[in-house]
Amino acid sequence: MGLYRMDTLLRQARSQKIALGAFECWDSINIQGIAKASAACKTPVIFQATPMEYEPMGGPAALTNMVQFYVEKYGIDAALHLDHGGTLEQVEDCARNGFTSVMLDASAACFEENVRLSAAAAEIAHAANISLEAELGHVTGGDGGEDADSALTVPAEVVEFVRRTKVDCLAVSIGTVHGEYRGKPELHLDLLAEIASLVDTPLVLHGGSGTPIDQLHKAIKLGITKINICTDIHKAFLAGIAEAQATLTPSLAGNFYRPAAAKMTAKTEEMIRLFSTEVK
Ligand SMILES: [Zn+2]
Repeated sequence: MGLYRMDTLLRQARSQKIALGAFECWDSINIQGIAKASAACKTPVIFQATPMEYEPMGGPAALTNMVQFYVEKYGIDAALHLDHGGTLEQVEDCARNGFTSVMLDASAACFEENVRLSAAAAEIAHAANISLEAELGHVTGGDGGEDADSALTVPAEVVEFVRRTKVDCLAVSIGTVHGEYRGKPELHLDLLAEIASLVDTPLVLHGGSGTPIDQLHKAIKLGITKINICTDIHKAFLAGIAEAQATLTPSLAGNFYRPAAAKMTAKTEEMIRLFSTEVK
């Protein structure tokens, strides 16, 4: 039980032919739900947050304390990860404050700039004995944003990127989007197979929400070991809030989050089970 380096948990998962869910954290209610779901499934889980999510909670140290509390309360194995760190200062801040993994996302920059920033982030992470995730290719979208700047991972760049950056976990762009899909989701599984044949670095899929489970299972079989889930649990949580607004009076504010917590926890449990069912 406790918080571990994310790459350690991912390598274990890979040896069991499963993937771990990485769930976005925004408050203590949703963090407790993720911990409960992990305990119910007896499967490790990754708590992750972007600066936009942890700043309103009081910063990285506040999030670490919260996550640590629920990890101990439910006796689970977990990692705490910075999702989409945008600057080396954010990486440093999380490394100093108890995160066990960080992402530096320079995937929108050119290859050389991505290498330079990811290598610098790896140095910070490794000095703190935590893992670094970086992204090659660019998964775009989110909140109905434009998909135009999405770029698939180029296999010819993968080996050089991993060698020069010393990244521990590699996020790849194989057809997922952040947020809601506009068209029909179609993962480029041949591309994933090619990337997985080039490196043994654990591979990460951003934008897991809304991707058909048969495609996710094929991706897990080919090497995806971490699947990021944000939109699906947000939607479950907000559906619970809507239910509470429709049925509760303001004087019952203490019960306000109950339906949201229940729906989000159930959704998280469902996703963890789907990802940890060994794919034949
Ligand atoms: Zn992402």
